[in-house]
Amino acid sequence: MNCSTMNPKLFWRDQAVAMTLSRRKTMALHVRENSIEVRAPYRTPIKLAQTFVDDHDQWIERKLSDIRKRKAEKPDLMAASHIPFMGLNVALNIEQGAINRWQLAPEGLNCTLTDKQEQLLPLLGDFYKKQAQFWLNKKTLAVAEGLGFQNRISGIRLRKTKTKWGHCSASGQLQYNWLIMMAPEAVIDYLVAHEVAHLEHLNHSASFWQLVAQIQPGFDRNRRWLSDHGHRLTLT
Ligand SMILES: [Zn+2]
Repeated sequence: MNCSTMNPKLFWRDQAVAMTLSRRKTMALHVRENSIEVRAPYRTPIKLAQTFVDDHDQWIERKLSDIRKRKAEKPDLMAASHIPFMGLNVALNIEQGAINRWQLAPEGLNCTLTDKQEQLLPLLGDFYKKQAQFWLNKKTLAVAEGLGFQNRISGIRLRKTKTKWGHCSASGQLQYNWLIMMAPEAVIDYLVAHEVAHLEHLNHSASFWQLVAQIQPGFDRNRRWLSDHGHRLTLT
C-alpha cells in the first residue's frame, strides 16, 4: 500500500514536492509537467528527502525544461498546411463539404470536412489508421516470410497506445501503434523488424538485437530517432 502526501515541508526551489512512501528500498524522483514527487521507503526523514531533492536540483531543472520543450515541439495539426506521413511532408488540402472523407492524391491529402474544428483530427486519425493497416500488415508479412516466421503470427493489431510503439505476445500477436505512420519509413521498418524479431526471441537479449540487425542493418539510427522524436508523433 502506498501512502502519498503533498508534504508541505518538502520543496524544490519554491515548488511543493509530493512524497510517496512505500516498501521500496531507495529514493527516486518522478518529475512531470505539473508535479514533482519523491518516492521513498517508509520512515524516510523529511530532511533526508529534502537533501535528496537538493542534490538533484540541476537534474530536476533539466527534466522540467525537457518536458516543456517536448510539449512545445508537438505539431499543431489544426493549423498545419502539411502532415508527416512515412517520411513525406504531405500537403493538407481542406474543403468544407457535406460529408467527412479523405483521399490521398498526388497533390496531397484532400479532405472534405463538415466542420474542421470537430472533424479534422478524427479524419486524420482514420487516414493514419487505414494506412497503418495496409503498410504494417504488408511489411510485417514480408519480413516474417523472409525469415520463415509467417506461421508464428497469430494476428496483427493496431492500437493507439500511450507509451509503446509495438508489442509482441508469446502467442504471436503483434501490436502496433498506428501513429508510427507519421515517422520516416526506415523508422517504421525498424519497428516492424523489432516486433518480428520478438517472434523468435521474447526478450531484448543480444541474440534478439542480432536478429534485428540482420533484418535491418544499421537499425540503431532508427531506434534512436524513435526515442528522440517519438513524442512528436501525436494527433492532439
Ligand atoms: Zn521489444
